[in-house]
Amino acid sequence: MRKNIHILGAGPAGLALALRLLKRASLDCDISLIEKEPFTGGLCGSFSRSGIRFDYGSHRLHACSDKGILDEIKSYLGDDLLLNKRNGRIYLSGRFVRFPLKPADLLFHLPPSFIAGIIRDTLLKPFRSKKGGVHSYGDALLYSLGKTMCERFYFPYAEKLWGLTPFKISADQAKRRVAGASIGKIMRKICSKNDRKSVFYYPKNGFGQICGSFEKHANELGGRIHVSSDVHSILHSEGHIQSIRFRSLDGKESSVEQNTDFLCSTIPVTSLVRLFQPSLPQSVLDAADKIRFRSLALVYLVLRTDQFTPFDTHYFPEKNLIFSRISEPLNFSQCSDRKGLTGLCVEVPCSLGDSVCHASEGELVSMVLDDMKKAGLSVRCEIEDSFIRILKDAYPLYELDTMRNFKVIDNHLSTFSNLLNFGRQGLLIHDNIHHAIEMANSAGDCITDKCSLDALRWRSFRRRFEEFVVED
Ligand SMILES: Cc1cc2nc3c(=O)[nH]c(=O)nc-3n(C[C@H](O)[C@H](O)[C@H](O)COP(=O)(O)OP(=O)(O)OC[C@H]3O[C@@H](n4cnc5c(N)ncnc54)[C@H](O)[C@@H]3O)c2cc1C
Repeated sequence: MRKNIHILGAGPAGLALALRLLKRASLDCDISLIEKEPFTGGLCGSFSRSGIRFDYGSHRLHACSDKGILDEIKSYLGDDLLLNKRNGRIYLSGRFVRFPLKPADLLFHLPPSFIAGIIRDTLLKPFRSKKGGVHSYGDALLYSLGKTMCERFYFPYAEKLWGLTPFKISADQAKRRVAGASIGKIMRKICSKNDRKSVFYYPKNGFGQICGSFEKHANELGGRIHVSSDVHSILHSEGHIQSIRFRSLDGKESSVEQNTDFLCSTIPVTSLVRLFQPSLPQSVLDAADKIRFRSLALVYLVLRTDQFTPFDTHYFPEKNLIFSRISEPLNFSQCSDRKGLTGLCVEVPCSLGDSVCHASEGELVSMVLDDMKKAGLSVRCEIEDSFIRILKDAYPLYELDTMRNFKVIDNHLSTFSNLLNFGRQGLLIHDNIHHAIEMANSAGDCITDKCSLDALRWRSFRRRFEEFVVED
């Protein structure tokens, strides 16, 4: 009898795994994806409104992605995969500076006190000590970068993005989010002539076209994709997952139960552990209760003008403005059905229950417009449309004890012989799409033709995932 592999979540990780497995001729299995939203793509999806393709926040395919992964995406998208020059700006100390950073631009546009501070911190580095220990993101960055970069850039940005003071964020975060964790490394990065950092790939029809192409190929190869489907139970016995139960959220199908030979999950690990029947031990559920995600309110504006600015993305690290980024999709790809209109996507980090989440749509749009004015980006044209989307689990939060709690869950999940948990929300990894695809390909390679797990191999891949560093 043919075996069944189920994959929870049809974001890039789930879709890429489905494709990897479907392409393996020696694997005689049915592959089913279960996705709770009515569309696939997860955070990497796109949608149309007023004739404009919008993404869920600023997304680009970094040119420094693994070559094999880039080649695969190129083979699906062909000429639709555009190669663009990066053209962003960062708002620092009340001025705009080009991003990616350029040495001359920094010298001419940063306040002299900022530059003097960086020089002083660099000279004083040999005298900084780790005597009190490096317990947090704040400690790690203060030691490696000094006060100026921390207090004027990294700390306010961390507080805005993750809603935590830098001293309550795990030191691990410094490794994963700050690629050049010393002034020397940052300067080398800024001065480097690495062309791959100054360009990026972007699909003609929005970032979601990447996942759209994965979905299309998975369908052609016989994969079954159930959208608008909510998994409500994972039935297990003696360390083996036996079946899953899911129901369709659009009311078209009632609850169905399917036997499964192997279950892969890319959904938030905190949701996954609550689906097991019988329930997992209380210690595992308690650990999950302590893990939090940061949300993101996306405020979309459709403006009656051809172009708002020529820049693809503006970055706002400082805390006095509520948004962290503003992107203009038509500067990524000129794909629009309607002339004389452009769109903006404004990213406002928030936590469920805070004032941003409680604000009405009109109030949030007003807050955004007020702060855009403060940053010198007043909207002077007519606003044709505005709307909001909330990404509930946008960023896994790395609090001081997050990894300890995750370990409790991870150790327990690894006792199941036919379960693999991975992806951004599964392993709590701050990643890029190429990392999500790499995790998926690795997961696929650890599922044997007999539908069992090569656990040793998976453990070695897991160590590699710990080295991922996010590209911004
Ligand atoms: C604002 C923002 C900007 C980003 N910009 C970039 C960028 O420029 N370049 C880049 O490479 N990466 C970027 N990323 C990262 C990128 O989005 C992730 O690497 C990628 O989406 C991770 O893929 P995933 O499949 O692991 O998770 P997700 O994309 O989160 O997919 C998970 C899927 O699981 C589904 N799901 C959740 N719960 C359930 C459930 N109970 N049952 C069934 N399905 C469920 C979700 O609906 C979703 O479809 C950005 C991320 C954010 C938040």
